Amino acid sequence: MYQFSNIYGNALLVHHLQHAIQQKRISHAYLLLGDDGSGKKLLAHTFAQTLFCEQGGTEPCGICKSCHAYDAGAHPDLILVRPEKKSLGVEEIRTKIIDDVAIKPYRYSYKIYIIEQADTMTPAAQNALLKTLEEPPSYAVFLLLAKQQAAFLETVLSRCISLHLHPLPAQIVASYLQEKKSLSSEQAASYAAYAQGSIGQALTLLEDEAFLQMRQDVLAKLQRIQNTSLAEVLLWAKEWEIYQNDFRFLDVIALWYRDLLFAKRLHDDTLLIQQDLQAALYAHATEDAAVLAHKAIAVQQARTQLTQNANFRLTIEVLLMELKGE
Ligand SMILES: [Zn+2]
Repeated sequence: MYQFSNIYGNALLVHHLQHAIQQKRISHAYLLLGDDGSGKKLLAHTFAQTLFCEQGGTEPCGICKSCHAYDAGAHPDLILVRPEKKSLGVEEIRTKIIDDVAIKPYRYSYKIYIIEQADTMTPAAQNALLKTLEEPPSYAVFLLLAKQQAAFLETVLSRCISLHLHPLPAQIVASYLQEKKSLSSEQAASYAAYAQGSIGQALTLLEDEAFLQMRQDVLAKLQRIQNTSLAEVLLWAKEWEIYQNDFRFLDVIALWYRDLLFAKRLHDDTLLIQQDLQAALYAHATEDAAVLAHKAIAVQQARTQLTQNANFRLTIEVLLMELKGE
């Protein structure tokens, strides 16, 4: 069962939607904007289940017929639209929405359309949908989920209430992981750091064995970089070629030096992002702050070069030399 009270972060949006329900002032079209894993679907489904609920409250009751049908994934008046191919074309929009919306709801006072990846609608598809958005039947509610607002025609945007889902503070992602996934506070803080404000992304990482192994490998090497010969360190660039399509290994390196810098300068445990590495960080924070800062910058430079298609091996060799301090 969906519950607004189970949604972490984005409190203003949650309040906006619950208030609309309470005041019975529901718009016909909402555009929920946010990155992958930002919680668009969760918010859309919570809103839809609440609107359908026979109790008429600001949360789904979980026990009425409508809530049961919703939880079973069989609600008669909920229509899910997701692109079958790369984009949503005119035909798909016509058959799934425009023709369908003329049919009255089967049982409830709303007919709700959740349109995933709505920003893949072609301009022609958007134009086709526009007429429906301009003159929707009283019972129709459209929830468009999208990453980019720029993909929409102005005319479509003007018909929608745009709601932006923001990345969550790392602290909120961490509390979610502690409360719902029973992670220790140290582990939760580290995962939250890599998840970039997205609970969805944190959950993906938790299941991602390859990420865990990569992190372990990279951190183990960074911790012995000063005591390893340059010749051997340069060989890591070849070993790390397995990560060349996954720049998260640069996140791991960047965070390591960021935290070393904080450990060196501030001596405040609470400011460390990788709470699970406290002991290692203090043990390795031996260099000057200026040197550590320089290394952190070198990681960002390597990332920029790689996104511009620089040679992976060469870029990482240069980075490793900088990190070793040669
Ligand atoms: Zn209910």
